[in-house]
Amino acid sequence: MFRNFKTVKRIVFGRGCFNQLDDILAAQRTAECPDMVFVVDDVFKKGKPLQERLPLHDEDLLLWVNVDDEPKTKYVDQLTAEVRKAMTERRRHLPAGVIGIGGGSTMDLAKAISLMLTNPGSSADYQGWDLIQVPAVYHAAVPTLSGTGAEVSRTTVLTGPEKKLGINSDHTVFDQMVLDPELIADAPREQRFYTGMDCYIHCVESLTGTYLNAFSQAYGEKSLALCQEVFLQADTPDSDDKLMMASYFGGMSIAYSQVGVAHAMSYGLAFVLGVHHGIGNSIVFDYLDEFYPQGVAEFRRMLERQGIDLPRGVTAASSDAQIDTMVNVALMLHPLWENALGKDWQQIMTREKLRDLYRRM
Ligand code: NAD
Ligand code: ZN
Repeated sequence: MFRNFKTVKRIVFGRGCFNQLDDILAAQRTAECPDMVFVVDDVFKKGKPLQERLPLHDEDLLLWVNVDDEPKTKYVDQLTAEVRKAMTERRRHLPAGVIGIGGGSTMDLAKAISLMLTNPGSSADYQGWDLIQVPAVYHAAVPTLSGTGAEVSRTTVLTGPEKKLGINSDHTVFDQMVLDPELIADAPREQRFYTGMDCYIHCVESLTGTYLNAFSQAYGEKSLALCQEVFLQADTPDSDDKLMMASYFGGMSIAYSQVGVAHAMSYGLAFVLGVHHGIGNSIVFDYLDEFYPQGVAEFRRMLERQGIDLPRGVTAASSDAQIDTMVNVALMLHPLWENALGKDWQQIMTREKLRDLYRRM
């Protein structure tokens, strides 16, 4: 069986295209459902020009979200309840749409809220594959950081009580993305690098994986080349445009293949120590010469060129039980291992080997 992919329906790209957001949303507002919910990273709250530019109407709801911790199911449930309450007070059923403005974490929160407004229970009930039954309300992505590919993917990655796992479904996919390279210009340098490395690692894991096919290769090779331009060559006026397209293509590449060892291990680090995705992938990747020799060598050149010092010793204070939990979380992700190491991956990546790798970080 081949996967019949749903993709983002509409894309607007270009410097300043954020100014068109109001017009784009106008088409979604109806007399019964006029209200839009803006889910915005609270980093833009104080004195940031973006705050002034939000095309808010009187009836709209503005939710400032905090992403110091990556999205948790509990937080999604709380935010969804807030929207529901506001809708009930207005005697309305649902909002016209949910707009996520921020990095991967904020886009994922927006996806999850749009799904949970129409599906009963807790978001933790839907962590897995194709468990969502009812279509979400209209949802749009406005990235302010590029690299995760969250703007194109069919998942929203959430940490629940038992696991870190996405809500993977066709309904998760955004209806619209607004790709304005000007919005990523002011991201902190290190954060830009780590989120960019998420994209670079998506490409390496996809292009060296056993699931590779011409579809994934086409997107992955272009994305990889763009990452090389952005992180190994001198900055140009359109570096942010390139990074934004690299993220999109990197996301498309893994859509039809899979990620690999760095992602599986990074999930373990995130679950136990709360290490964020981009930086976690980078920390792990530096120990994976054995699996990705070329990619790791090039990654180190990028680190050097960008003047980034990777954190070291992140697991030094971890107990044996914590390392065991990391191993369990990582090993749960069968498709990632199979993509990276083939059908016999369990013979290659034993618990002992994985424990040893974690201990070195
Ligand atoms: P992020 O959204 O977690 O943000 C990182 C930091 O950068 C935050 O402090 C945020 O406030 C800040 N920030 C964002 N944009 C900024 C800007 N323009 N200026 C200044 N500060 C800004 O970072 P990320 O790396 O984009 O996303 C990581 C998240 O994405 C993780 O939660 C991960 O699980 C998720 N993810 C999702 C997918 C998917 O397909 N859904 C794929 C990969 C990762
Ligand atoms: Zn990733």
